[in-house]
Amino acid sequence: MLAIRAARLFDGRSVTLDPVVLVDAGRIAAVTDSAPAGSEILDLGAATLMPGLVDAHTHLALDASDDPIGRVVAASDDELLDHMRAAARTALAAGVTTVRDLGDRGYLSLVLREELARDPMAGPRVLAAGPPITTTGGHCWFLGGEADGVEGIRAAVRERAEHGVDVIKIMATGGELTPGSRADTPQYGLDELRAAVDEAHRHGLPVTAHAHAAGTIVDAVAAGVDMIEHCSYATDEVIDALRMAGTVVSVTVGADPGVPYPPRLITLLVEYFQMVTRLRTAGVPVVCGSDAGIREAKPHGVLPYGVAALVERAGFSPAEALRSATSLAAEACGLGDSKGVVAPGYDADLLAVNGNPLIDIAALTRVRAVLRAGTLVS
Ligand SMILES: [Zn+2]
Repeated sequence: MLAIRAARLFDGRSVTLDPVVLVDAGRIAAVTDSAPAGSEILDLGAATLMPGLVDAHTHLALDASDDPIGRVVAASDDELLDHMRAAARTALAAGVTTVRDLGDRGYLSLVLREELARDPMAGPRVLAAGPPITTTGGHCWFLGGEADGVEGIRAAVRERAEHGVDVIKIMATGGELTPGSRADTPQYGLDELRAAVDEAHRHGLPVTAHAHAAGTIVDAVAAGVDMIEHCSYATDEVIDALRMAGTVVSVTVGADPGVPYPPRLITLLVEYFQMVTRLRTAGVPVVCGSDAGIREAKPHGVLPYGVAALVERAGFSPAEALRSATSLAAEACGLGDSKGVVAPGYDADLLAVNGNPLIDIAALTRVRAVLRAGTLVS
């Protein structure tokens, strides 16, 4: 039995002082105030203990270089898998103990998922979408997930279900990353989105839609998708639709402050955080997705900066922001009974940071310790 002491515990929902968290066989055994005789003690002093972070949107196959697309296209499967292993280690070291990979090539994230299930110290728990479904030549077509029309989409969903994905990712609009693709332009209409949701749900899989343009977000919500990624152009109509349907939005946040951001995107980002503020005010559930890997300012493990940005730029309280990257994110990703909460029976995926992120959210980037499946990650 391992007994972890810290100054305070954010358990995924609320805070207690001077906790002792007991860990046995990779799971939380109890949250108490004293260590049983004979237990091994890990004393984290003045640190804050909390659940490991859940990143609802990453791309382990993209390397956050100055040309992530070029690199992914040029790499062999073996090379790409090696890059993904490194990305997984980097994310874990930053305290991200669960990632949802929303776009790989060749279903390699499923290979990594199985590797890390056998060797959890080597990376986060992975939920995998495989190659995102996109139109021919559409956003991220180079990942290999092209599918057109209602029947094409149904077949693409079935193919992913056969591979054993955890979630279906569909590119409902174009996106920033792909030359020739536009974020404000739809890729699929209501019938195609309905087909994706129907076929996915028939296989017991959730669907998340990459959607920037307002009309397409409304269509995706009407089609019954389980989550929206990005949600950039959220008009009042969009926010009403999201609120009525209870659809979770994975907001794209997190950038390394040490890397200059493209000037063109800085203005967009100001508007984006205004949109996130409106989602919060309207009561739309918001979880954190970093989109790590897609550009130099988004290295793997960047999520803590995104959580901080929700506080600094979108009016979240620190506790709200922490919930959005722990308990709420785990629940929204279908892991609400094993991740994102420090309570008996949950996996002992833990993050300890120096300082008190409930007062100073920037403390989230000051990692003191990470535990994965109950073992300290060196
Ligand atoms: Zn993405």
